[in-house]
Amino acid sequence: MAINKKTLKDIELAGKKVVMRVDFNVPVKNGVISDDTRIQGALPSIKYVLENGGKLILMSHMGRPDEKGINSDNTMKLVADYLSKLIGKDIVFVDDCANADAQVAAMKDGDIVMLENTRYHKEEQAKCKQKDGESDEDFKARKAALKAEQKVLAEKLASYGDIYCNDAFGTAHRAHASTAVITKYIPVSVAGFLMEKELEYLGSAVENPVRPFVAILGGAKVSDKLAVVKNLLGKVNTLIIGGGMAYTFLKAMGHNIGNSLCENDQLDYAKEMIAKAKELGVELLLPVDNIAADKFDPEANTQIVGNDIPEGWMGLDIGPKTIELYSNAIKNAKTVVWNGPMGCFEMEKFNKGTFGVCAAVAEVKANGGISIIGGGDSVSAVKKSGKAAEMSHISTGGGASLEFLEGKELPGVAALADK
Ligand code: AMP
Repeated sequence: MAINKKTLKDIELAGKKVVMRVDFNVPVKNGVISDDTRIQGALPSIKYVLENGGKLILMSHMGRPDEKGINSDNTMKLVADYLSKLIGKDIVFVDDCANADAQVAAMKDGDIVMLENTRYHKEEQAKCKQKDGESDEDFKARKAALKAEQKVLAEKLASYGDIYCNDAFGTAHRAHASTAVITKYIPVSVAGFLMEKELEYLGSAVENPVRPFVAILGGAKVSDKLAVVKNLLGKVNTLIIGGGMAYTFLKAMGHNIGNSLCENDQLDYAKEMIAKAKELGVELLLPVDNIAADKFDPEANTQIVGNDIPEGWMGLDIGPKTIELYSNAIKNAKTVVWNGPMGCFEMEKFNKGTFGVCAAVAEVKANGGISIIGGGDSVSAVKKSGKAAEMSHISTGGGASLEFLEGKELPGVAALADK
């Protein structure tokens, strides 16, 4: 994907109203924000607009109000108060993102308005699934009506500003009112600095990697990462597969995998990928030993086994020889992208593979290479291991970074102006 999108630096901000979509989808429990990484991540763009004389209208979604309802843990007021303290500046909070005309009209240069959770309006996402018993025609009509409402919301959000800035990489894979549709109704749409950083790291890794380029994929399901494996096979020197998804590959190679995770409908795909790797001359590394458990439990009995898992046992982590094999490949890399844990790292007995790989990935930056952690569980593992500062880039977007690695165009990025 082209990364040459205009950013805040490419436009005149003085006196202008900037509507900025940020990713303030922070974890909240009982009204307390437990991790402010995403708020901190947006600060460079926020400060830049204010320092350059702009008026800033911030908007984001938080949580899943469409599923869990509107409640005191998904109001953006929490973030408005938090951010206000963080930057030592008043923030005007508007309790309906579609009803902010008066507050926006009253803004002076350097002011901040923050809108309530965009997902309090169902048309932000315009999710639409066919209901049981609903005819195709009715479903089509309902979908079209929702899309029309989405445009109205997008147009309303656009009306607040002269410039749209998208700094929410985490939702850039969604074509929502505030992430993509809005760009049709506002004169200029640019990337924020966090978005720019994400695109730079992920984009250059995938399009123009310094070699050797090693990708590490793990996690529970092969089906979640089908397109990533396919796309990366054409780009990497080495593809490392661990975690639950490795067992479908091992079974496809003829191993007995006991009760390990397996997606039987993906066996042919796994065979195809093994053949494709050979054809392309890509080194495909799979486990050579495993930590097998007699049950899925932190107190399970365990044993180290090869690639044939005994009947009644399940592979829950890669074994010590595999850690060594993977670490050696990783340490020699100049570009590493990692998405998905090597085992059930949430349980202490099965965290050595993930932490071992984490230690190897941490050496890449120290050796002058680039290490990119692609969101989701790998980020929690890296944070848990205390090695976060030793990585070149930790992506703020799990789903978005996966879609990027699949080679897909992200609607929230595609809609921004080219340089
Ligand atoms: P994903 O969301 O696909 O990245 O999967 C992450 C989850 O995969 C984590 O919660 C891990 O505990 C789980 N996982 C990793 N390895 C295994 C395994 N061998 N068996 C079962 N679950 C696993």
